[in-house]
Amino acid sequence: MDALAIEQAVSMLRRAELVAFPTETVYGLGADATNAHAVARVFELKGRPSNNPLIVHVADIDQALALVSRWPATAEKLARRFWPGPLTLVLPRNDVIPDIVCAGGPTVAVRCPDHPVALELLRVFGSPLVGPSANKSGSVSSTTAEHVRTSFGDRVHVLDGGPCLRGIESTVVRVEGAHATILRPGVVTHEQIAEVTDVDTYEPVYAPDAAGAMPSPGMLRRHYAPATPTRLFDRTQRRAVLDRVETGENLIILSHGIDTEHGALIRMPRDAESYARELYAAMHRADDAGADAILIELPDAEGQVWSAIRDRLRRAAAG
Ligand code: AMP
Ligand code: MG
Repeated sequence: MDALAIEQAVSMLRRAELVAFPTETVYGLGADATNAHAVARVFELKGRPSNNPLIVHVADIDQALALVSRWPATAEKLARRFWPGPLTLVLPRNDVIPDIVCAGGPTVAVRCPDHPVALELLRVFGSPLVGPSANKSGSVSSTTAEHVRTSFGDRVHVLDGGPCLRGIESTVVRVEGAHATILRPGVVTHEQIAEVTDVDTYEPVYAPDAAGAMPSPGMLRRHYAPATPTRLFDRTQRRAVLDRVETGENLIILSHGIDTEHGALIRMPRDAESYARELYAAMHRADDAGADAILIELPDAEGQVWSAIRDRLRRAAAG
């Protein structure tokens, strides 16, 4: 990305305009995190409920320090080990960041993204940026500049940094003293975090009445969802799913396990990292196909990245 493109984006951000930028996870809808008006436009454009806080993106640990009222040794260790990278830390906040960013709550979520364009933008801007996924609230995240343009047309300036390499959102971790709790699984795994600190995982409950029990207002049960009705199936149902297509039902299938060539089938990778990287692009394709339903095979392999993928798939198919 040339310096001119970054300069142009920075002057837009300084005028409280929005700029979508690539990160290693998904594209972010960027705005000046210290400007409540700019942040309000992000909520408005996304149609995001005001009780769902935004992640604040920083260039480095120093920028994060300026936003928090406490920075436990655990936060320092996690940031040193995983930043820049797909790990978001939730910490007690000070009043540098306006309330709207944190949905009025006492904490702020911060992360330093591992992408040269995002880092350059943050460095030249010199101040933190909010960066929720650059898509309408609740729908499938954007992993290409094209996805962003499809969501927002010319209402948002997009810095095109190519397809995102990780493909699913950051791991969100609440840090309290020496203890960490994973609020949202991601590609930084429980095992990796456990090498640094004592950690447990908040187990989301997918019951319809679970909303009251959520530790973070942002952990919506239905999220990351295509507009087309989406259902999950398991390996024992592969044949039955193919039979439905063959009898003429207008379905699109996402599967890493079905081998046959079929127009209705989007074949997914068998390794977790590639699956995560391709997931949202596949969901966008499936959504654009005009099918009556999308059927996704829920992978059953062990591993934290697969767990993060299952988390996104369950939310996509909820409700
Ligand atoms: P998104 O920007 O769409 O990837 O969503 C950001 C997610 O980060 C939200 O859905 C929340 O789960 C989480 N988050 C952001 N800020 C906070 C916070 N202050 N406390 C807890 N979770 C947060
Ligand atoms: Mg999102």
